[in-house]
Amino acid sequence: MKIGILAIQGDFDAHRKRLEELGAETVLVKTASDLVGLDGLILPGGESTTHMKLLEEEGLLAPLVEQVRQGMAVFGTCAGAILLAREVKNPAQHSLSLVDMTVIRNAYGRQLDSCVTTASTTISDHPLEMVFIRAPVIERAGESVEVLARRDGDPVLVRQGRILAATFHPELSSDPAVHAYFLKMVRNGH
Ligand code: GLN
Repeated sequence: MKIGILAIQGDFDAHRKRLEELGAETVLVKTASDLVGLDGLILPGGESTTHMKLLEEEGLLAPLVEQVRQGMAVFGTCAGAILLAREVKNPAQHSLSLVDMTVIRNAYGRQLDSCVTTASTTISDHPLEMVFIRAPVIERAGESVEVLARRDGDPVLVRQGRILAATFHPELSSDPAVHAYFLKMVRNGH
């Protein structure tokens, strides 16, 4: 199983380490040719505006969307989740528009910029530790979007088909449950 990690900006290395601990082969994706033959792709945290701009400049945008249409699994965390959303607010910006949800960037306000909390999830029998860093809020999740975990009522871990999105950073917690779930999703082919 070969998993790519978009490595143009942001915290991609923690994802690489976690995936390798779980036994996956990883590829740092910087150009369109790095996408060839991937079973799954991680869109890490960072700055979604910068990620979107670099995806366009590097010619990664169209081949990435095409590969997702052909069945490649994707997991976006924080800025990566923003890229996946159909609609982005605060401010509005372009996205890959692959998950039927609306996100509000930097929605927890200055004082709550970053925090660590725990919440229950349907993917594991124990609560997940969740690290939030200037996180977006999922304001709306469409009918085809399954909510796997919530924080104070708001969805924070969601799935639509072969696409997984977290508004927090599972790569920064010691619990490998979310990455293990993603690898299982990739392996099962649905
Ligand atoms: N605030 C960032 C954005 O809007 C996301 C932060 C993150 O990925 N930790 O793009």
